[in-house]
Amino acid sequence: MWERITEKLSILADAAKYDVSCASSGSNRKNSNKGLGNTGNGICHAYTEDGRCVSLLKILLTNHCIYDCAYCVSRKSNDVKRAAFTVQEVVDLTINFYRRNYIEGLFLSSGIFSNADYTMERLVLVAKKLRTEHRFNGYIHLKTIPGASNDLLEQAALYADRLSVNVEMPTEQSLKLLAPDKKRQDMLNPMTYLKNSIQARHEERKTSKKVPVYAPAGQSTQMVIGATPETDLQILLMSHFFYQKMQMRRVYYSGYVPVSNDNRLPSIGTPVPLLRENRLYQADWLLRFYGFTVNEIVSPHQPLLDADIDPKLAWALRNLHLFPVDVNKADLFLLKRVPGIGIQSANKIYAARKYALLNEQHLVKIGIAYNKAKYFITHGVNNNNYKELTAMQIKDRLVNQAVSKYKPNFSPQMKLF
Ligand code: SF4
Repeated sequence: MWERITEKLSILADAAKYDVSCASSGSNRKNSNKGLGNTGNGICHAYTEDGRCVSLLKILLTNHCIYDCAYCVSRKSNDVKRAAFTVQEVVDLTINFYRRNYIEGLFLSSGIFSNADYTMERLVLVAKKLRTEHRFNGYIHLKTIPGASNDLLEQAALYADRLSVNVEMPTEQSLKLLAPDKKRQDMLNPMTYLKNSIQARHEERKTSKKVPVYAPAGQSTQMVIGATPETDLQILLMSHFFYQKMQMRRVYYSGYVPVSNDNRLPSIGTPVPLLRENRLYQADWLLRFYGFTVNEIVSPHQPLLDADIDPKLAWALRNLHLFPVDVNKADLFLLKRVPGIGIQSANKIYAARKYALLNEQHLVKIGIAYNKAKYFITHGVNNNNYKELTAMQIKDRLVNQAVSKYKPNFSPQMKLF
């Protein structure tokens, strides 16, 4: 019996590793009923060799699937070992692992058994049993199955912290090409439904605390990148749409892992576009926290992110006329845009300069990446010594600086900044 469960676990955890959307931040479920577990920010994560973030119990309910999405290892035409957990098996595993302190939450996705509702019912049942029978207060992230009914979404939102619907491909065209059984609208409908319901519940809870908690960590989605020819501009415009119109908490970018010799896809052996994935996350960060627009990061003339440098540095080099900025005078908006100064450092500078004229030592102490920022700032009476340098010269210096820092472990796939 245990061997069979272990075998299922190895098959279904392996199949789940392609899903990267497993961060658990954003939920604040408290253990107020003397139940099991407690969810807060910073839940335990594991990182795989290639840098992906993986929660410890991250599994599929099944890797059987009626669909044949070309980019997916679980597609029905793929000759792989198949397995399926029962609802009770997933519940028992979660509780056992939780009690042993192996995990702090559950990330549950699934192939599609016979139809969307049948599969979704089982996912919901796992969450319901954990919450109601075991009073489990750990984090639960459920993948919703495109095409499942709103009733099931409603129940899922009552038991899970986060829900997600994978949009899969950045454009409808690519979805049609690689997953002809799937409809874009079947993904957008549940996103819209959840967005509206989350907003409505949020408003209701302002007037009555009796309104049950409803998907407190919101919703997220994931796009496979590098399987189809979309540019970074197209991908980031899609992300912008999800953040603005669907109020997604996160959009995840999953660099395509070649799993098939299908001629619609990059062939097996093509490297996973990890550097591109990383640059997209950096650009995504700029959109969400730094007030950048998509067109400031990429444009129709330059639709791809620079692989050599991070997108914030690339923007600054394209806009050298705005620099150097005086850290003792610049407004917060511009301070945050200086390469080497993050949000926290910008806020600290903003607060500290009320009491003293900041110099290099102060800035280093505050924690800015001075060796990077020095090309873009002035402070005190010092003038910037680098303002005669061209964008290309600054870029070369910073790239060389990063390469020598990471020698001898440097490889072209490494993130430089
Ligand atoms: S529906 Fe999901 S599990 Fe099934 S083949 Fe498509 S991506 Fe894979």
